[in-house]
Amino acid sequence: MKAAVMKAVNEMVVEEIPEPEVEPGGILVEVKACAICGSDVRTLRHGSAHVTPPRVLGHEVAGIIKAVGLGTSGYSVGEAVTVAPAIGCGVCEYCRHGITNMCPNLETIGFEFDGGFAEVMAVPAKAVQQGHVNRIPQGLSFEEAALAEPLACCINGQSFLDIRLGQTVAVIGAGVIGLFHTELALLKGASRVFVIDIVPERLEHAATLGKNVVTINSNEADPVEEILSQTGGQGVDVVIVACPVGEAQNQALQMVARRGRVSLFGGLPQGKSKGYLDSNLIHYKEVGVFGAHASTAAQNRLALKILAEGKIAARRYITHTYPLPQIMEGVRAVEKGEALKVIIKP
Ligand SMILES: [Zn+2]
Ligand SMILES: [Zn+2]
Repeated sequence: MKAAVMKAVNEMVVEEIPEPEVEPGGILVEVKACAICGSDVRTLRHGSAHVTPPRVLGHEVAGIIKAVGLGTSGYSVGEAVTVAPAIGCGVCEYCRHGITNMCPNLETIGFEFDGGFAEVMAVPAKAVQQGHVNRIPQGLSFEEAALAEPLACCINGQSFLDIRLGQTVAVIGAGVIGLFHTELALLKGASRVFVIDIVPERLEHAATLGKNVVTINSNEADPVEEILSQTGGQGVDVVIVACPVGEAQNQALQMVARRGRVSLFGGLPQGKSKGYLDSNLIHYKEVGVFGAHASTAAQNRLALKILAEGKIAARRYITHTYPLPQIMEGVRAVEKGEALKVIIKP
C-alpha cells in the first residue's frame, strides 16, 4: 500500500510499504481522509518524544472498516468510522474513571502507532475495546468527520472553563483550534468572544462567525488594553490561549477578570515553557488556570454529533485537499499559514 513515511526529521517519503495486519480484537481502516494537524508538522520539522521514525503520522482520521480481527465484536466491514487516536491502558486509575487522556501510559495513533497518512491503518485491539472506533453519523463526509478529532480536543479544553450564558471570552490565536474554541464558546452562550491574531485573513475568517465576535489584530493594537477598554476595565471571564506563544499566556493573565479562568490550551515548544506566568496575577485575582491534553473517545463521539447536527459547519474549515503523494504540498500550505484545515486523501 501507499503511505507517507516519516524517515527522519524533515524527511517524509511517500512509498509502497506492506499493508498492516489486523490483530485479534483489532480493526483495519481504509483511510478516506486524514487531516494535517499542527502537531504533524511540528513532529516532521522538529521530531517528537513520542515518535520514533520510521513512522506513518496522521491522527485525524476517517475511513471505512476494511477488516475486523479475530474476536473483534460490535463492528463490521464497510462501516464508516473515525478513530479517537489517544489510547489509554484501560486499567489505571485515570482510565477507570474515564479520563483516558490522562493515562500515564497513553499511546497515540500517528505517534506510537502508525497513523492515517496511508491507504490502510491498523487500529489496536485495546483501542477497539475502549470504544475508540466511532461510527460516522449520516450526512457527514469523511473529510468533515476527520475534524471531530481537533474539535474533541477543544471540547476537552473547555470542559474545565464553565463558560456560561452572557459571559465574555477571549481566544488568542485564530487558527482552526482558536476558531473551534470561538464557536464552542458561542454555543455555550458567550455574549462576546474576542479573537486575537496577527494574520488579517484569519481574523476575517473569525469575523464571519457572527456579530458576537470581536477581532483584534495584536500587531495594530495592544490586546490587553483593547480588551480592558471594551469590558469597562474588568477584563473577560475566560481566556483561551490557542497558540504556542509564551507571551500570550502572560497576556491572558492580564486580560482575564478577577475570578476568571484561563486555559493554556496550546502547549509551548519543549524547553521553552518556563518563565512566562506572573503568579501574583493568579494569586490576587483568584484566577483558575487550566491545562488541556488530547481528548477521550467519548469527546470524539460528542464532536461527531455536534458536526453532524450542523452546530459547527466543518466544511468551512476545509480549505485545501491533496492526494497522498502530494502530502508535502499540504504541509507547506499549513506552514505558510494560508490554510485552515488541509485534508489528505489516500
Ligand atoms: Zn491533532
Ligand atoms: Zn491508563
